[in-house]
Amino acid sequence: MIEEDAAKSEIHCFSDASTTGYGACAYLRQITKEGEVKCSYLLGKARVAPLKMITIPHMELQAAVVATQLVSVLERELKDFLLANTATHYWCDSMIVLNYISNDAKKFKVYVANRIQQTRDVSTPTQWHHIASRNNPADHASRGSEVKDIIRHWINPPNFLQQSDIKIPTTKLEKTTDKLPEARCLSTSVKEIPGLLGMMERYSKWETLINIFAVFIRLDPYTDDDGIVRIRERLKYCTTFTIDLKHPAILPKTCNITNLIVQYYHRLTGHSGRGLTTATIRQNGYWITGLSTAVSTVINNCVICKKLRGNTETQKMADLPAVRLEPATPFHYSGMDCFGPFHAKDGRCEVKRYGLMFTCLTSRAVHIEMLDDLTTDAFLNSLRCLIAMRGSVKSLYSDQGTNFRGAQTELKKNLAEINEELHKNLQKSLNVNFFLTPHRRATWEAFGKDRLEQRDRLWKD
Ligand SMILES: [Zn+2]
Repeated sequence: MIEEDAAKSEIHCFSDASTTGYGACAYLRQITKEGEVKCSYLLGKARVAPLKMITIPHMELQAAVVATQLVSVLERELKDFLLANTATHYWCDSMIVLNYISNDAKKFKVYVANRIQQTRDVSTPTQWHHIASRNNPADHASRGSEVKDIIRHWINPPNFLQQSDIKIPTTKLEKTTDKLPEARCLSTSVKEIPGLLGMMERYSKWETLINIFAVFIRLDPYTDDDGIVRIRERLKYCTTFTIDLKHPAILPKTCNITNLIVQYYHRLTGHSGRGLTTATIRQNGYWITGLSTAVSTVINNCVICKKLRGNTETQKMADLPAVRLEPATPFHYSGMDCFGPFHAKDGRCEVKRYGLMFTCLTSRAVHIEMLDDLTTDAFLNSLRCLIAMRGSVKSLYSDQGTNFRGAQTELKKNLAEINEELHKNLQKSLNVNFFLTPHRRATWEAFGKDRLEQRDRLWKD
């Protein structure tokens, strides 16, 4: 790697960073006495970005620190092999970092200042040059690459290093001065004029001021011995009421004390509504201007009331199925469900009987059959009764009841046994399509439940 007949040698170190990582890589460039350029990879380091988010310029600066650390290691380890006059060049694609490093003014925050110092300990600003991102091999360290790309772009030195003459770009950096820009701290204070004059200052129109004070004077207020402004009611000679009830204290609507008083009485009345809260506040000797609004505001902002009185969100209903919208004869499209059992007398025995409810999905008509038990045979007999009385049924919807599933299997088996021509004819006229849906509160089940509740109410009556 190190040429014995090298006339000139240089270390080129590249750094780069992104949101995912940062890193640096260094190459040795040697020119033999014959003028041949030989370039080789020396050392590289890639790190993932810290979990705590930092800005890209700060990451780039951290990558520059890694670059200087790499060069320090190389210079220490290769000092016996390299030429004494080996020059070191640093390459970076961030102008912000180059400005940071060339900046002599001490006006950076601790994070930046520390890292600038680390780079300045090892390098000088003149050693740092700008390179376009597309030519920067350290770009692969910052965002990760596949193995083949690492060999092609990272292990193999960049093309421009292998040319006989490298043009070091002259980068125009921002001029920095030691003089810090002047910073001024301005503060604004608001002085509130207390008392009546202060209240008058709030209004910009004469007629508004007159109207407001007219309302206030109409209340006929007076100040008691303790300095509390109270209303002069007509209950002066009432001996059973306290002073607070006879002459309630006036409080403004928008005031923190008013808000706390309203909240207190709202909680005291067990989070009751506006009427009871308002009455309780009046009973306790407070005359709050715009009391209803103040109480409403408190109730609207009360979390417990929102939980107790708030409406629950409803789910958006799906579109109705086609069978409920197609015009058809009654029970052409039907849903069915079993209900019961009911205890009935058969001679001296008590037996269980069940109901089978057919619901027409188009007209919502209902047909109820009685089932002796929940067997397939009992169900098929009931279905036969329905078809005999109401006409053909094209589609039947039900849950996954064992009797319904048995009936579906039985009908399929019987249809398979009869000859093909008859099968075709039957499919046109008599065949029933079963749709066994999951257990859920579907139209027919809900209907059945409503009828059962109605029956229970009637029987109790
Ligand atoms: Zn409440």
